[in-house]
Amino acid sequence: MESMEPDPLNGVYVYLDIVSDFVCQQCGVCCNNDWLVTVDEAGYRRNQRLFEQAGRPEEFAQAFLPLGSEAELGEYARIAKRPSGGCWFLTAENLCRLQQVAGHQHLDTVCQWFPRYPMNTERGIELSLSFSCPAAVKMAVRQQPLQIVRAEGSPIEQLPVDFVRHVYPSQQPPDSILRYYFEIEGHLIDLLQARQLTLPERLELVQGSLRQIETWQDSAEYGRQLNQLIRDNYDELDLAATRQEPLQDGPADWLAENYFVNFLFRKNLYVQGSAGFLNQLVQMSQKIIPKMQKATATNDTAELEQLIVALELEWNHNSRRQAEGSV
Ligand code: SF4
Repeated sequence: MESMEPDPLNGVYVYLDIVSDFVCQQCGVCCNNDWLVTVDEAGYRRNQRLFEQAGRPEEFAQAFLPLGSEAELGEYARIAKRPSGGCWFLTAENLCRLQQVAGHQHLDTVCQWFPRYPMNTERGIELSLSFSCPAAVKMAVRQQPLQIVRAEGSPIEQLPVDFVRHVYPSQQPPDSILRYYFEIEGHLIDLLQARQLTLPERLELVQGSLRQIETWQDSAEYGRQLNQLIRDNYDELDLAATRQEPLQDGPADWLAENYFVNFLFRKNLYVQGSAGFLNQLVQMSQKIIPKMQKATATNDTAELEQLIVALELEWNHNSRRQAEGSV
């Protein structure tokens, strides 16, 4: 069987262009919420040594709480929260006390790499950004559609030591439509960026395509059915291009489009399957579109940006046990 791990020094990188331009604004949002930040056993022991050498074993016991039977794969402990909900190590200036003392390399993967979102996939190492970071969302308020870059070199200096997602369509069961995952992803991104249609129209087309895919039963027919679906959709886009003047869109439309493209590029369709992804897409569209329209009317994307951050926090983060996450 083919190796699951790409060679990080000699691989292909596939990433959204905003990844290479991202700069943290130190707003503290990522460290000041109800996410469950977990560490693996190596990280737990590394911190144990650090705190013991500093003569502060009591603080270590307060700050790193073993998960016991609640631990999922790769987890060993979680970092405690302050009563306010913020990370144990967050300073009043929104800086990380652990990083100040021990350096960036000492931090665990999620703290080192957030909001970068590294994925190990069959076509290389893929990188996206989490839009729960307000600075990442700001970058998406731009007219130029998000571009998918394919390169031999990494867009960031150091690679993460592990990945948020592993995406290997060829290892899906023979009757799974996910064996065609990359063809589907590429096509749906094309649809989301087809600006001859309004964004609600594009979302309808994407949702309709997923509904069609859901009806397919015979895996021997998947390739032919997918080609037909793609041809039909491009015919529809061609028709729209001939009957419509270029649409008047603006920052709210661009942000919403870029949000959905990023959401898809992060492989949510692969992880959730077409039915689960469709359900999520419908719910997100119902929230995003009215806010997008309001932002267009008021010429102010602030509320839409806040909604996107909130949706990302709700859908895409490890916030289980959030209620009892504080100390
Ligand atoms: S939310 Fe984004 S900009 Fe703010 S501190 Fe975290 S990574 Fe930096």
